[in-house]
Amino acid sequence: MKVMLCACGCRLEANGDAGLVREALAHRSREHATSVSDEKLVRRVVAENAYRLEYAAPYAGGEGPDEEFGPEPY
Ligand SMILES: [Zn+2]
Repeated sequence: MKVMLCACGCRLEANGDAGLVREALAHRSREHATSVSDEKLVRRVVAENAYRLEYAAPYAGGEGPDEEFGPEPY
């Protein structure tokens, strides 16, 4: 299972990088229709930001608590 947080705070999950790219593309066309959904860019974002759920510590980012359904961390 791979997990990635979208810039909007949405949590995307899939079984692998390829699935996560598909999820991210679908999410972007659904929620961010105005932004460019360039598959290459999305792939890079996924590669850089996705993490394996098994190894992810809740506060791995070191930026304070990030509740799954909490307020936006901005
Ligand atoms: Zn989003």
